[in-house]
Amino acid sequence: MQTIVKAATEDTDVLIVGAGPTGLALAIALMRSGINTMIVDKLVIGQNTSRAAVVHAHTLEVLESINVSERLVQEGLKLTKFSIRDRDHVLVQLHFDSLPTRYNYLLMLPQDRTERILNKTLTDVGGAVRWGCTVEKLVETSGGIHACIETGQGKQVINARYVIGADGMHSLVRETVGIECTGGSYEQLFVLADVEMNWSYGGDEVMQFFSPTGLLVVAPLPAGRYRIVATVDSVPMQLAITDVQALLDARGPTHAAGKVTYVHWSSHFRLHHRVANQYRRRHFFLVGDAAHVHSPAGGQGMNTGLIDACILGRILSHAILKHSDDSYLDQYEILRRPAAQQVLQLAEQLTQMAIMKGLSQRLLRNVMLRTFGLFPMFRHHLEMSLSGLSRRTAAETKL
Ligand SMILES: Cc1cc2nc3c(=O)[nH]c(=O)nc-3n(C[C@H](O)[C@H](O)[C@H](O)COP(=O)(O)OP(=O)(O)OC[C@H]3O[C@@H](n4cnc5c(N)ncnc54)[C@H](O)[C@@H]3O)c2cc1C
Repeated sequence: MQTIVKAATEDTDVLIVGAGPTGLALAIALMRSGINTMIVDKLVIGQNTSRAAVVHAHTLEVLESINVSERLVQEGLKLTKFSIRDRDHVLVQLHFDSLPTRYNYLLMLPQDRTERILNKTLTDVGGAVRWGCTVEKLVETSGGIHACIETGQGKQVINARYVIGADGMHSLVRETVGIECTGGSYEQLFVLADVEMNWSYGGDEVMQFFSPTGLLVVAPLPAGRYRIVATVDSVPMQLAITDVQALLDARGPTHAAGKVTYVHWSSHFRLHHRVANQYRRRHFFLVGDAAHVHSPAGGQGMNTGLIDACILGRILSHAILKHSDDSYLDQYEILRRPAAQQVLQLAEQLTQMAIMKGLSQRLLRNVMLRTFGLFPMFRHHLEMSLSGLSRRTAAETKL
């Protein structure tokens, strides 16, 4: 005789699928407002790799609402200079220290440390990620959504009023509700490496180098490390010291400026530039990489997701606590989708400039950048765009 095992069932107001930085920030925002929230992730333990390395000024301003900015600032490395160069020639020099914000710098902090701080803050407000829980199916009913979850110890059903897709680029939530992502992919592969090196330029400036063979970024990190980012045609599974050194020698300053002594971590990825056509469908919402992906140029990916999370947290809390009209929830897409489109455009412009190959195109680019770079207004515009402050809106502060 066949035994039918009934899956355990639980109810919640909000189910967040995915405990990357975006899901964690949203969980904190909702828990702080007293909303019944559950957050699950299919990983057995959180990711521990470096990935996104910069937290921008606007992100820090918004993260104040969930009480994590101070902790991030304590652990991060503050840099005030960013330059775009062609080998030895400075094309544009930016300074972040005169920006209209109390976070007038680029805060360098590897993503695993940002996630650790978010996790700790979530615990402080009484929440906890349910690790090792994979959402396999989502079924919409008249009263909400049934999420079918594999927990490792068996199946579980969670009944939620709202489900949030914070489940990254290959979002199951987005796929389930049939929201398309519009955009494309880049041909180039990008490599990242966190290294130790003797860098004669010191540790107070992010430098982005253009060169005939491709892009190179050198960014100081806490603890004397440096983040190297480069475009490549093909890549070994792990970058060795000699691989990173070769990139520095071929694309950085022409006279040996750096000697790599240790590679702590490396990774590579192919890039896409896409935005979801909708951020909300009925009781489903998309945040972070589930809603938008783009090139790491300008370091905007994780930042945009963290801001999505804080804004959605405020809107959803208000809607649940004050029983607002359903249309109030549309605020989220109205505020955040245009921001992602602007970020995508910025990252696209920076990436296209960086991967130009033809000599005449590169010369023209350099002349234009060097000329525009002389104008304070142009530099201020770039500083405001990179820091995210140009996307700060009155509407988001009023929420
Ligand atoms: C190698 C690499 C380098 C990067 N470098 C940079 C950089 O330099 N600058 C930058 O800004 N960004 C960078 N990024 C991007 C940045 O890491 C992402 O923008 C950021 O992690 C997005 O956060 P998220 O929370 O939206 O999604 P993710 O971090 O992708 O988290 C999604 C989570 O959802 C979970 N999940 C997925 N499906 C399910 C399911 N069905 N059930 C339960 N859980 C599920 C996953 O396990 C994961 O933990 C990099 C990414 C990579 C991979």
